[in-house]
Amino acid sequence: MPFASLGLIDQINQTLASLDYTTPTAVQQQAIPAVLAGKDVMAAAQTGTGKTAGFALPILQRLVKKSTPVSSNAVRALVLVPTRELAEQVHESFRTYGAGLGLRTMVAYGGVSINPQMMNLRKGVDVLVATPGRLLDLYRQNAVKFNEVQTLVLDEADRMLDLGFSKELDQVFAALPKKRQTLLFSATFSDQIRAMANQLLREPVRIEA
Ligand code: AMP
Repeated sequence: MPFASLGLIDQINQTLASLDYTTPTAVQQQAIPAVLAGKDVMAAAQTGTGKTAGFALPILQRLVKKSTPVSSNAVRALVLVPTRELAEQVHESFRTYGAGLGLRTMVAYGGVSINPQMMNLRKGVDVLVATPGRLLDLYRQNAVKFNEVQTLVLDEADRMLDLGFSKELDQVFAALPKKRQTLLFSATFSDQIRAMANQLLREPVRIEA
């Protein structure tokens, strides 16, 4: 199955061609049409399965198609990840796949000064990739607003729980708009992950890599 049959716009398909991505991975074949259709997704996917492009490509496309100028401090797609390394990596993927689409992306994690992050959020961003603790700090300081969030991604949800982010996550979930798209990616599915999925997802498309 070629990428061209998944419903992505020409500009994204051209970017994929320039990266020598010829065939979508199993996760991408299932996730891309579901996310484009606005559905919730629950995916069992390890690193190396191409999961990042599986959510980043359709999210970028939806943001381009419904182009609204983001208001100050607003975020349209929020991607939560467990570590700063993964945050950098996922943000880099959004930048690469979103080349030329004119969207604003940003990454935020702890252990570095919060002030530049607060400054960068002022204009609003289309995509924010963040670790849960720093995101909550930014939210408490009114540097980020959640009312325009249309898509939430939990990447490596099991690792976020292993690292003790459960309380921070619950606080973020409580502050997000109820009407939104939610995508949950996890390598393993413990009872705690299943409970989180039940709480957050509405009639999710289930994906196995
Ligand atoms: P991930 O599982 O998201 O960490 O991606 C693993 C690696 O596969 C990354 O380095 C991607 O650049 C690469 N990749 C993702 N999708 C494709 C694809 N369809 N064709 C070739 N490489 C890909």
